[in-house]
Amino acid sequence: MYHPINLPDCPALNTFNELIRLLLAFGLEQTSSQPETEMEPLFEQYFTHHGFSEAGSWFWGKPVAVRQPLLKLLALPVAEKVGILAAFAADIDLAGRFADGRFQVSDFPADDAALALAGEIVQNCYTRILAADGVPAKVLGMDAPLDRQAVLRAYLDAQNRRRDANGNSSPLKVCPGCDSRPPSVSDNKIHEDLDHFFPKSRYPLLAVHLLNLTPLCKDCNQTYKGSKDAIADNDAQVTDVHCLHDIFHPYLRPAQPEVAVNVCRLADGQPHIVVEPRQNDAQQTARLHSLLYTLNVNGRWDGDLIEERLRPKLEMLLLHGWQDDGQVDEEKLRDGLATAVATLNRFIGREPGNVTALAYARWLAGDGQGQREWVQVMRTAVMR
Ligand SMILES: [Zn+2]
Repeated sequence: MYHPINLPDCPALNTFNELIRLLLAFGLEQTSSQPETEMEPLFEQYFTHHGFSEAGSWFWGKPVAVRQPLLKLLALPVAEKVGILAAFAADIDLAGRFADGRFQVSDFPADDAALALAGEIVQNCYTRILAADGVPAKVLGMDAPLDRQAVLRAYLDAQNRRRDANGNSSPLKVCPGCDSRPPSVSDNKIHEDLDHFFPKSRYPLLAVHLLNLTPLCKDCNQTYKGSKDAIADNDAQVTDVHCLHDIFHPYLRPAQPEVAVNVCRLADGQPHIVVEPRQNDAQQTARLHSLLYTLNVNGRWDGDLIEERLRPKLEMLLLHGWQDDGQVDEEKLRDGLATAVATLNRFIGREPGNVTALAYARWLAGDGQGQREWVQVMRTAVMR
């Protein structure tokens, strides 16, 4: 989660979450073991009463996704369901939870039967509805239907409206997780993964939440992040991350202003990418540990990156205008590096790989040994 991203404008998703809240309220605030045939009209009337005349019959027609777990939830005594709806309502205010550091649903025992059923319903609303056929426009009472593509589209539109700190247009054209290529679009279809920042297997009540859905490249989502939990993961070698204060979040707390990407020459004599907190305090360090655990960007950006990607990128920037006289010396290299640093800085987030290329160019500008090596690289390149 390196780059700050704009919050998508997706009112249909917010409406779908309101429908889900009504679903949960229906199952949590009463107890009933009436037969399905008697329950169906009550269910439909409930949604009509709350302004969604089409939603009841539509939800009822999703037996595996909604009806079966809802009937089980309804059958539990109200006394066993107290507090769950309030905790759900509190936790979908993610900004509020980031302010006080913890989710209210974590107060319930992990084996709470009612909570498990509520979670199953919300998770199904993602996997069996949003990621499948979507929600028809008439169910939402809106002009357009809602599906996964609509969420991706809203995200891309929002990133195209992004502005930099000076208010200038600065559309995000990279994966926010790893600074690589942005989603590809073909046949009017967006090809990208929709990552659940808080994994839906562990935080099912947040499965359809806009602030919990971030498009990430397949490499980030499938190879690295998967179902890792940024806050509390038994698999993590991260021991200093305890609550929401200790993590970054793509929308609410982007890493970019707080994290520095640098290059250092390590003991093997080679330059390496290192990701460091800008302020060396315990909380910033914990946040960085959580980020590196979930996305492993330091490992992915290092390795063969300098030889395979940073050298060619920098070579291309430096070569511009150099081939006229064929002369290359360290002074000319330093001038070229200053221009390259300014160019890369301006296009951070707008071209893939600029975060690491900028770190490398900055480091090279201050490293005499690196410059002497580079003069040789550039003499060879100019002669080509
Ligand atoms: Zn990525």
